[in-house]
Amino acid sequence: MTKIASLPDEMGFYGDFGGAYVPELLRPNVEELALAFKEKKNDPVFHSTYISMLEDYVGRPTPLYLSEKLSTKHDCTIYLKREDLNHTGAHKINNAIGQILLAKSMGKTQIVAETGAGQHGVATATACALMDMECIVFMGEIDIERQAPNVQRMEFLGAKVVPATSGSKTLKDATNEAIRYWINHPDAYYLIGSVVGPHPYPEIVAHFQSIISKEIQEQLKKKTGKSSPSKVIACVGGGSNAAGAFFHFYDEENVELIAVEAAGHGLKSGKSAATSILGTPGVLHGSMTLLMQDEFGQVTEPHSISAGLDYPGIGPLHAYSIDSGRTKSIPVTDQEALIAAQELTKSEGIIPALESAHALAALNSVELEPSDIVVVNLSGRGDKDLSTYLK
Ligand SMILES: *Cc1c(COP(=O)(O)O)cnc(C)c1O
Repeated sequence: MTKIASLPDEMGFYGDFGGAYVPELLRPNVEELALAFKEKKNDPVFHSTYISMLEDYVGRPTPLYLSEKLSTKHDCTIYLKREDLNHTGAHKINNAIGQILLAKSMGKTQIVAETGAGQHGVATATACALMDMECIVFMGEIDIERQAPNVQRMEFLGAKVVPATSGSKTLKDATNEAIRYWINHPDAYYLIGSVVGPHPYPEIVAHFQSIISKEIQEQLKKKTGKSSPSKVIACVGGGSNAAGAFFHFYDEENVELIAVEAAGHGLKSGKSAATSILGTPGVLHGSMTLLMQDEFGQVTEPHSISAGLDYPGIGPLHAYSIDSGRTKSIPVTDQEALIAAQELTKSEGIIPALESAHALAALNSVELEPSDIVVVNLSGRGDKDLSTYLK
C-alpha cells in the first residue's frame, strides 16, 4: 500500500484525488506557492520560528487529557487532545500562523481568505494583526448575519469583511469571490483554512496541522510508555483537524483512524454533510475529491447543526484514505452530537465545540476493547455554540 504520509505526488495527487484544477490565470500563483512551500517545509529556521510562535503565542503544546469519566463509561482508556485550549479556541490558528509565515517569506503583504462560520476568518484576522498583514475576508451575506459576533471580532482585529452577495450567499459564494479577488490581485496571498482546494493547499494545511499528532506521540509516550494509541477519532468538515491528528499515524497500520462525518438529520434525510459516505468523485474548489452532488453534477446544499462541518466536500487526502480503507468514516447526527456535548460539559466541565462533539459521539458507535487507548481530538471550544446548546 502507498505510504499516505509521503503523498501527494509531484502533481498534488493522492491516488485519483487532489490535483490543481485552476483557471490558467492562477497557474503561476499555485506554482509559486508550491515552490515556496517546498523550500520552507524543511528549512530549520522557518520551522523553529513556526514552533516558537505556536508555543509562546498559541499556547502549545495543548494538553493530552485523560478523561476518567469517559474511560470508565466506555471501559477503556480515553484521552482528549485539547485543541480547544489554543488561542482563539480551535486548531485553525496553527494553520493561519504557518501560512502567514509562508506568505511573509514570499514577500506578500496582503492576505485574502473566505470564511463560513467565521472561525477561519477570526484565526486569520488574529494572525494578520500579530504579523502586520493586511487582511480581507470574504463571507456570504447570510453568514454575516448568522455569525455577527465573529464578524465583529474580525473587524475589531482590523480585517476588512466583504459580503459575498451572489448565489446562496454562503461559504461556496464567498470562496468564489475570494478566488476572483486572487485572480485580479495576484500579489495577494490566498489563505485556505482546511485541507481542501488546489494543490499545494491540502499538503500545506496538513503539514501545519500535523503538529497535533506529533504532540500526541510525545505525550502518549510520556504517559503510557508507548507513542501510539490504538484509535484516533476526529471530526471532518474539510478535514484539517483530522489530518493533523492522523498525520503521524497514517503509516502505522495498527492505529485505527476514525473520521467522523456530520449526518445532520440522518444519512437518508437529504439533510446531511456526510460527504465520504454519500459523496461521489468530482471537482470542488480546485481539486478532485468526493463531494455531495446531484445526477447533473450540481453541488447539493449540505446540512449540519455545526457550521464547521457544513461543507459539501472533503479534503482529497481523506477521500483517498477512506476510499483505500485506511481511514474509517462514521456518521453522527445533530442529535447525537448535542447529547455528547452535554455529557462532556456535565461530566468534565469542558464545553466542546459542536464540531468536536461529533467526534465524542462516535465513541458510542466504535467497538472498544478494555485494552484500547483512544485519542479523541477536541478540535475547539463551545463558547460559540452556547446559544444552540441552551436551546
Ligand atoms: C472549522 C472547524 C472544524 C472543521 O474543520 P476541519 O478542517 O475539518 O478541521 C472542526 N472543529 C472546529 C472547532 C472548527 O472550528
